[in-house]
Amino acid sequence: MRAVKTFSLIFLLCAGLFPYPGGETPSLVKIPKVPALTASALARSGVEVRQELQNCLLALADREEISRLRRMGVRPTVLDRSAGPKEYLLVSLATPGAMDALRARGTAVAVEPRTAVFWTGTAGAAEAVPAGLPRKVLAAFPVRVDLRPAAAGFPVPPAAAPDPLVETIVSLVSSSRLSSDVQSLQDFQTRYSSTTNCEAAGEYIFAAFTALGLDAVRFEQFPFSAYTSRNVVAELTGETYPDDIVVICGHYDSISPSAYRQTLAPGADDNASGTAAVLEAARVLAAYPLDFTVRFIAFSAEEWGLFGSRAHAAAAGQAGERVVGVINLDMIAYANSMPEDLQVIVNAASGWLADRFLAAATDYGDLAATKTVDASFIYSDHSPFWDNGYPALLAIEDNPLNNPYYHQTTDTIDKLNMTFFTGSTRAAVGLLAELAQPIRSGYPATPTGLAAAVVAYSSLFNDLTAVRLTWDVSPGAAGYNVYRTSQSHLGYVKLNDLPVTASNFLDEDLGSGGTFYYVVRAVDGTGLEGNPSREAEAALGSSVGRRATLSASVPLRLWGIR
Ligand SMILES: [Zn+2]
Repeated sequence: MRAVKTFSLIFLLCAGLFPYPGGETPSLVKIPKVPALTASALARSGVEVRQELQNCLLALADREEISRLRRMGVRPTVLDRSAGPKEYLLVSLATPGAMDALRARGTAVAVEPRTAVFWTGTAGAAEAVPAGLPRKVLAAFPVRVDLRPAAAGFPVPPAAAPDPLVETIVSLVSSSRLSSDVQSLQDFQTRYSSTTNCEAAGEYIFAAFTALGLDAVRFEQFPFSAYTSRNVVAELTGETYPDDIVVICGHYDSISPSAYRQTLAPGADDNASGTAAVLEAARVLAAYPLDFTVRFIAFSAEEWGLFGSRAHAAAAGQAGERVVGVINLDMIAYANSMPEDLQVIVNAASGWLADRFLAAATDYGDLAATKTVDASFIYSDHSPFWDNGYPALLAIEDNPLNNPYYHQTTDTIDKLNMTFFTGSTRAAVGLLAELAQPIRSGYPATPTGLAAAVVAYSSLFNDLTAVRLTWDVSPGAAGYNVYRTSQSHLGYVKLNDLPVTASNFLDEDLGSGGTFYYVVRAVDGTGLEGNPSREAEAALGSSVGRRATLSASVPLRLWGIR
């Protein structure tokens, strides 16, 4: 018992719950998202944000940091005066009676109408949360916060037409494969993290990834409570951009009421469905060379509080990995009525990913999907990616949930709707393939090395700003088309009439400010257009150093600036 306690304490220490060694123990505070709380005010305050919600932030702060916020006109509320070696969990209050159930087990404070923070006097609060309540353990490190006001930009044109090659890939998604993988996962009887059956299910997924010939198949071990478990990770390495990663993921662990979970938690919808869709995505994509890397992940200990995805996303953030977008599938196979529409949940910074999913659902899934922007919907594996500044979406059958078998021993394969399940999977695979970009033979190569630099210069009458794009010469290209948008990954507009023959371009038509995103595509002599490059971002603003850029006036003149 003592060994277990020491281990948990060491883990919490390593996890950074003591960010003030030798100093004052910080408090856990709630900071309202008021207009005075700008990004720079937050940075100046010195507080450590551990969770962003729709209307507030949860942070660790000492007395000096709290008074600094007060002086800036932001009024934090202290939730817990001594944030010592404690495990805090965010718990959904969507279930009636949730608050009373939490207060019977520990301390619970509502921080938003549907969200409570919960802790106990000792470490290991994860085990004390009543069954059936969605939960998330508080991040172990400071999280990224996006307080930028939504930028006004160019209007977004309608989505592009379905891609015939992506349609071919999506048509390979098989209902019978999905159903046999769900059956295999259900046959482990329980996949409750901490049981040996859960680990055996992890080995089944590892073997399936290996049999498909994926790259870098690996277990990723992490601690939670007094246990360890393993995420299962595999990749298809991108040929053009191996370091740009598109993630598709779902958790393979399951849960049922406490009297049964050690032996029976079939978890067919929650979440053999999402896991089977990840396996099916790997199967249908494995034959195609791709521009970008696709990472397939089956997470564990989601039901304990997102421990597996927290470990993975934090490691990705610390390693500086470039994650383009995350498609998290959790409960995508139960339809309480038909036609069932799929719910797609994002934070503000991931809005484009939901827009692209909605288009893919129509184009490839024959499915209606609904977008919800709610930074407080944190109860699945997309949320730790948000914490690390990555765009991520959750696809889920209903919000609020409408599955009577949820977290019960009756969540079995016979309750699933295979038409809906197949449509959900096809939508996800369609978006995944669009983002990863299958390489077509006979087409010009995807351009690499695109860089965007903001340049400022003075004309006779005005100070002007432009974006200078450069890229590598693409083998076999007769020219290039340059595209711009004001919303990442959405609604690109071509800027040139005739193909650009040099490997550079100056975009002068930008107005006063904002952030712009560019891609370049190569064209050959017959006009065939290849895949887009990686997106390059250019943020125009008052911070542009005019003097510094003017000193580069000779190269600017070479670029054709008047
Ligand atoms: Zn789930």
